[in-house]
Amino acid sequence: MALQEFEAIIIAKKDLTKDVIELSFSIPETFTFQAGQFVMLKVFQGEMSKFKSYSVLSPPSQKGKLDLCIKIIDGGFASEAFKVIKVGDTLLMRGIFGQFTFKKESPSAEAWFIGTGTGVAPFYSMIKEYVPQMPQKNFRLIFGVRKKEDLFYMQDFQDIEKKHSNFSFWPTLSQEEWEGYSGRVQKHLGEDLQNKDFYICGLKDMVLETQQYLLDRGVAPERIHFERYN
Ligand SMILES: Cc1cc2nc3c(=O)[nH]c(=O)nc-3n(C[C@H](O)[C@H](O)[C@H](O)COP(=O)(O)OP(=O)(O)OC[C@H]3O[C@@H](n4cnc5c(N)ncnc54)[C@H](O)[C@@H]3O)c2cc1C
Repeated sequence: MALQEFEAIIIAKKDLTKDVIELSFSIPETFTFQAGQFVMLKVFQGEMSKFKSYSVLSPPSQKGKLDLCIKIIDGGFASEAFKVIKVGDTLLMRGIFGQFTFKKESPSAEAWFIGTGTGVAPFYSMIKEYVPQMPQKNFRLIFGVRKKEDLFYMQDFQDIEKKHSNFSFWPTLSQEEWEGYSGRVQKHLGEDLQNKDFYICGLKDMVLETQQYLLDRGVAPERIHFERYN
């Protein structure tokens, strides 16, 4: 896929939690990508600018509009710019980048997605794209956040779970007890790790720990795919 660069217009800005936003952009209809890949945005603060990477949230089948979900980190260069950005503003978007894509040809019976925080973004795209397309494969999303108030897209994932019997959704909280799963995401990987592909996305420590957990239990490296946000 050839690299493209264009001015993307912000058409919607939504608060998903107290510190995660969803930005929707109007983009050329010709822009194509695979679920799991990322774009770069040129973000300004005054005269200074930096390119920052964001996984595409929306599925490739959605043309002309691209969605991202972004964690706002107080004091972060891009985060501070995103706090004040508004509908109608434009940002230079460059893409598409990345190898963190769904391995459609894999013989494994199951695909498990393990994402923490906005690390769920590439899985949203993959789930929307492949769960309906591949009824013979079982998909599971383990979505880890700290507290209940940090969860987002709950309704979307629950609706997909209701509609598609090949998808199960396991939200898990690391810093709060509730009626659902709690503790670190690795706790929910279980004993039977064979015949599965694992996809991991989030911050460095979680990605490295989960990867090591799987390797220590004999999962072949080629069954483990990951994207690190830092
Ligand atoms: C391939 C790739 C895809 C990415 N996709 C996304 C995405 O879809 N959504 C998203 O929110 N971020 C994503 N990131 C992270 C993003 O590029 C920025 O690093 C992030 O927005 C912080 O930028 P900043 O300028 O606001 O903060 P900075 O001033 O650069 O740094 C602030 C601190 O925040 C930490 N940090 C970075 N990302 C996160 C995060 N997501 N959650 C918590 N802490 C973080 C950094 O390690 C750093 O210590 C992705 C990164 C990569 C490499």
